[in-house]
Amino acid sequence: MSKSTDVTWHAGKVLAEERARLQRQNPLTVWLTGLSASGKSTLAYELERRLHDLGHACFVLDGDNVRHGLNRDIGFSAEHRKENIRRIAEVARLFNDAGIIAIAAFISPYRDDRELARSTVGAARFIEAYLSADISICEHRDPKGLYKKARAGELADFTGISAPYEAPAHPAIYLDTGVLSVEQCVTRLLQLVLQRARDGHASR
Ligand code: ADP
Repeated sequence: MSKSTDVTWHAGKVLAEERARLQRQNPLTVWLTGLSASGKSTLAYELERRLHDLGHACFVLDGDNVRHGLNRDIGFSAEHRKENIRRIAEVARLFNDAGIIAIAAFISPYRDDRELARSTVGAARFIEAYLSADISICEHRDPKGLYKKARAGELADFTGISAPYEAPAHPAIYLDTGVLSVEQCVTRLLQLVLQRARDGHASR
């Protein structure tokens, strides 16, 4: 898609910093990456619940949900996955500009795509969380029956089976959801997010 030359960027009168001050938090993007069934949605919604209960404005961008609307025209080829992530990163940035913590739950299997997300959002706001459950565990869980379909050859480009997953080399946090409980994972994640979100703001 080409960029229109007739589009001008309008700067508003409310600065991103002013919005952050109003919300009393540093807006962040918590980017959960990992195989299907590694626990991204489970932890994203659990984190959202905890943050909300502590008074933090936050919102989950979930892979499956986004594919019902904004990205319903997007498939699973490497090129489409890149566009999927590009759009989500732009949405996460808008949420952050509005002062809100975005929690993005996407397989996002390609390192380059995640790096694009990091640079779109801004490295200072980006927390990459790698959910590293072993594929055998994810396949055993198979909550949506997708591994079964992929093994039967009914699903093309399925991450871990017929498409690659490039693990993050230096995630901000690494959670082996095959070993740790949901409670343990969310506690660790919450601790990191609160540290970063509250830094520089008066305590609640
Ligand atoms: P994904 O969004 O990565 O596809 P889901 O969150 O939909 O994964 O499914 C993960 C499954 O694994 C859920 O049934 C969840 O209850 C289970 N699970 C077990 N342990 C954990 C954990 N530590 N973190 C997240 N999910 C876990």
